[in-house]
This record gives sequence, structure tokens and C-alpha cells, in this order.
Amino acid sequence: MQYDVIIVGAGVSGSYMAHDLATKGVRVLVLEAGRSFTRDTYPRKEIDANAQLYWGGGVELNTSATIALLRPKVVGGGSIVNQALMDRFDNIALDSWRAQSDVPYFSEAGLSAWYEAAEKDLTIQDVPESTRNGNAEIFAEGFKKCGFVCKPLTRAQSNCRFEEGNDCIECLAGCRIDSKQSTPVTTLRRALRAGCHLVSEAEVKSVKHSETSVNVSGTLSTGAPFSFEARKLVLAAGAIGNSRLLLSERFNRKLPWLGKGFYTHPQYMVMGLYDREINAHKGPLQTYKSYDPGFRLKGFKLENVFAPPVAISMLVPGSGVGHLAKMKELTRMSCIEVAVRDTHAGRIRVNSDGKAFVEKELNGVDRERKTEGLKAIDAIFRSTGAREVVPGKLGIGLHLMGGLAMGTNAKTSVVAPDFKLHGFKNIYAADSSIFPNAPGINPSLTIMALSKMAASLMLKEL
Ligand SMILES: Cc1cc2nc3c(=O)[nH]c(=O)nc-3n(C[C@H](O)[C@H](O)[C@H](O)COP(=O)(O)OP(=O)(O)OC[C@H]3O[C@@H](n4cnc5c(N)ncnc54)[C@H](O)[C@@H]3O)c2cc1C
Repeated sequence: MQYDVIIVGAGVSGSYMAHDLATKGVRVLVLEAGRSFTRDTYPRKEIDANAQLYWGGGVELNTSATIALLRPKVVGGGSIVNQALMDRFDNIALDSWRAQSDVPYFSEAGLSAWYEAAEKDLTIQDVPESTRNGNAEIFAEGFKKCGFVCKPLTRAQSNCRFEEGNDCIECLAGCRIDSKQSTPVTTLRRALRAGCHLVSEAEVKSVKHSETSVNVSGTLSTGAPFSFEARKLVLAAGAIGNSRLLLSERFNRKLPWLGKGFYTHPQYMVMGLYDREINAHKGPLQTYKSYDPGFRLKGFKLENVFAPPVAISMLVPGSGVGHLAKMKELTRMSCIEVAVRDTHAGRIRVNSDGKAFVEKELNGVDRERKTEGLKAIDAIFRSTGAREVVPGKLGIGLHLMGGLAMGTNAKTSVVAPDFKLHGFKNIYAADSSIFPNAPGINPSLTIMALSKMAASLMLKEL
């Protein structure tokens, strides 16, 4: 087949770009390293889901092994495993992006039409307070008692049918009732109907380019090699995936900022142990978000969140019988996490085998933000009668951002404001890798909006 555009990665950005291009008649091929699942085939057990839906068998670590990096590897990418919380960026985030990148459209006004267009591709709802579970009750009560502000979450979901006893925590391994608006039931599905081709279990390992075309090659999960050519290439392999691919091909010779400026919003889960049943795993996974202007200014947010037992067991400190005793309290555990808007950039590197590794630490400012967040969590748990507060022993990086930062200066950025790599006419990126710094807000909706903007610029050229 002759393709106009090849997209590497069928995650959030890849699916949105595929949709906007294919529905306009562009011949698109999407190559995705992960497997393709449907609501009937998602892994049923948490441990299988970790192994089958993520790179690295579930968890990868930064070089000091202090942050667990969760990197999706599945058709639909992060939209399959994420909590589907949708937020537009505020001026605090966009002003800081504009200051760092010099890109003029990073403002609420500059992005508003693209946000609107992205929101139309999904069903988005406020999570109703009427269905909140015990964990959400503690969150709301603690916020009130401590004088903090929270409000209901906005989520990409159509009908979670909680009255039928659905537990949303399951949908972190793929939604079995197709309520969560993962891209295989939204944009990617419509792209495929419009004629887009998708090859799953196809890991791209090499990218070659000329003035007029690009060639990508790699291997299928069977070990069979593949090679495809097109007029243009979209890198949508996520922050680590894009850097890994380009660093392996030594694009850093022309793009000195490649792999730099990596952020994760490091998150720290804290468990509150109560004498009563909380059942944080029942019903909606989360109902509230912190909406406290003081928290935003201090550079953190709190999340009303829980995790399935394998994940919780990795966070609960101790070993042997002590650990088991704590895990037996699972149904009496509440959980709140602090997500830090990190200021200290990490760096993605690639070793001689082509394996990516991530240098990422907190600096003094980030540690202070974390401490302030942990203090607020402690106050919430104590004010609502927790018997014990147990901080998780590992940071978690879910929002993997940067490595191909957007900006006008080719010395301090990788992607230009027209979404092309500096100096390359036919290689584009619009996913989480182009974030200039950490916004401190859920990234997906902005990735969707930027991908739509990139697709429209590309369409004009095509
Ligand atoms: C548990 C969890 C919860 C989250 N919750 C939220 C939330 O509530 N709200 C929110 O906004 N964000 C959330 N996020 C983050 C959000 O999902 C990501 O920011 C988003 O998915 C990033 O989109 P992307 O297009 O950049 O990359 P991804 O969606 O990660 O897609 C990249 C895809 O590229 C593929 N790929 C990589 N390398 C190659 C290669 N060489 N060849 C072929 N394919 C390749 C990967 O397998 C992957 O499928 C969460 C993330 C996690 C892990």
C-alpha cells in the first residue's frame, strides 16, 4: 500500500491524528507495539493486565528506583488504562508554557476552539456525587473540615451503570462496558471505519527520512520484520517512546534538546486506615478533585483515588506478616494521593541496546511541594478519624511528558510550533512528548486538542 501518513503509536494522540486525517480521505497507517483488545478480551486479573497492557511487564523505574513509571502498551495507549479525567489547562499552566517555549497559541484563547473540538469527539460527564463511595466521602468530609476546596470530577464516560454494581476500579485494565471513552470506542474506531489501517503488535525500531518520504521499519511480535513508506510521519509513541526511537537513530545530532525536559507529575499515594469499612474499590473509582487555589499556587493537587490490590501491595511498606496484616485491612483503607507539579526536568537516554532509561529526581522545590501535599492529606485523614496514616513507599509517574519539547528555539526545543521536528519537513509530533514543562493538570484533553491542531495543519499541506 502507498500511504500518505504513518503514525507510530495508537495511543491518545495517534488515535486523534488518525481520526482527523483518515476521515478527510488521507491514507493513514497506524503502527502500535501493543495488542488490541475489546471489552470482551481485556485481561480479567490485575497481574495479567499489568503484564499485558504496559511496557516493562507492568512497571518501569527511574534510574534511582524511586519513581515507578507506568507506560501503556496497548491499542488505545493511555486511554485504555487511565482514569479518563478530562481538564482544560488554566492560564497558570499555559502562561508558563508560553514563557518557556515562545509559542504564541499557548493561551486559553489560543486553544479554546481546539479544546471544544476535542470535547465533541467524546462523551464527557461530571461524576455524580450521588454515586460516591466511602473513599470519596472521606475526601469530601476531610476537605470541608480542613477548609480546602474540592469539586466533582469531569470524566470521559458515557454510562457506567453503577446501579448494576459496576466497580470502576476494574476499568484501569480496560472498561468492560465501553463506558470509558477509550479511543478504540471513539476516535480510533471512526478512523478505522474511514479506511485507516492499523497494525498492532508492530514495534517500530527505525525511522529513515528523505526530503520527500519517510520509511519506518521494525518487528512484529512474531519476530517477522516489517517496513513501510509514506509521505509523512507522525510520532505518537508517547514521551519515552518518541525519545527512544529518535535517540536510537541519533537524531540528537541535529536536535540537541532531544530527551531533555522530561516531567511526570510524581504522585504519592497515602493510605488512611479506619476502624470501619470504606470499600474504596466499590462503585466510581473517584468522584472529587481538589480545586483549592492555595494548592494550585503551592504546586500540587490531591486526588481522590484508589488502586487495585497488587498496586496497593507494592506501595504498602513492610514485608512478611507485617505487610500481610496491613493488606488484610484493604477494605478499611482510604487513599488520597498528592500529585506534584514538578519543576525539575528529567532526561531520557538510550543505551547501546536501544533500551530507554530515565533520569528523574525531585529537587528542593518539588520535595517541598510534595511535603505540603502530604501535610494536607494527613490533616484530612486525621480530621475524619483515621487510626493510622500509611504513606506509600514509592512515587508513581503516570503523566509522562516531554523529551521532544515544543518551542521556537531549535537549541532548547525539538518540535516547532507547526508540530514538525526542527529542520525536518515531514516528521511531526503532537503527543505528550511535546509538553514544554509540567502543567500540573491532567494532560489527555490537551493532547487531544493539540493533535487536532496538528492534523489540521498537516491536512493543509497534504
Ligand atoms: C494509570 C494511568 C492513569 C492516568 N489517568 C489519567 C487521567 O485520568 N487523565 C489524564 O488526562 N491522563 C491520565 N493519564 C495519562 C494519560 O493517559 C497520558 O498522558 C496519555 O495517554 C499520553 O498520550 P500519548 O498519545 O502521548 O501516549 P500514549 O497514550 O501512551 O500512547 C503511546 C502509544 O505508542 C505506543 N508505542 C510506543 N513506542 C512504540 C514503538 N516504537 N512502535 C509502536 N508503538 C509504540 C505505545 O505502546 C502506546 O500505546 C494516566 C496514565 C496512566 C498510566
